[in-house]
Amino acid sequence: MINLVLFGKPGAGKGTQANFLKEKYNLKHISTGDVFRFNIKNGTDLGTLAKSYIDKGDLVPDQVTIDMLKDEVEKNPDADGFIFDGFPRTDAQALALDTLLEQKNMKIDATIALEADDQVLIKRLVERGKVSGRSDDQDAAKIRNRFEEYNEKTAPLIKYYQDQGKFHSVNGIGSIEEITQRLSAVIDGL
Ligand code: ADP
Repeated sequence: MINLVLFGKPGAGKGTQANFLKEKYNLKHISTGDVFRFNIKNGTDLGTLAKSYIDKGDLVPDQVTIDMLKDEVEKNPDADGFIFDGFPRTDAQALALDTLLEQKNMKIDATIALEADDQVLIKRLVERGKVSGRSDDQDAAKIRNRFEEYNEKTAPLIKYYQDQGKFHSVNGIGSIEEITQRLSAVIDGL
């Protein structure tokens, strides 16, 4: 079993790469952003709550996100492993993930960060906003706020995983195939 955390700022390409890696390594991909958007589209209570945060570029509260993630893991008891995309994003989420996995005799094998400069990322997000219709990609202030949330709450997790010897980073600039290869090299070396 392999369990991976894909790490990186908004726009780093986590979702794109997860889609390739899940096929290649037969893993279940859980994107918290996708699950929130699915709930918003379907008008669930969770969706309504999440939307009020996502629309501002704020993080959704930890307990809401943690409970949702736990449900997603438990829906897939037969998975050969997971790619966590967009989770954890805070200290509390990282601790909750470790606890959840421990209870199931599982663990995170590696956290792999996709690295790219803010200028490149902002350009990608604005382009994505034009086609995806994502409200949080269409407004410079919301995008800036997401980077601030990342720097404040998510970046400290790098040290959390480094201290466990699980942190890897790859260059997130290049063609999609090149980046998949860089990620694969890390996974194959585990
Ligand atoms: P991106 O990485 O491009 O910002 P995501 O699709 O991963 O986008 O997430 C979109 C939004 O969903 C985030 O800005 C945040 O509001 C919310 N969200 C996603 N994952 C989490 C999480 N782990 N904790 C809190 N909020 C989250």
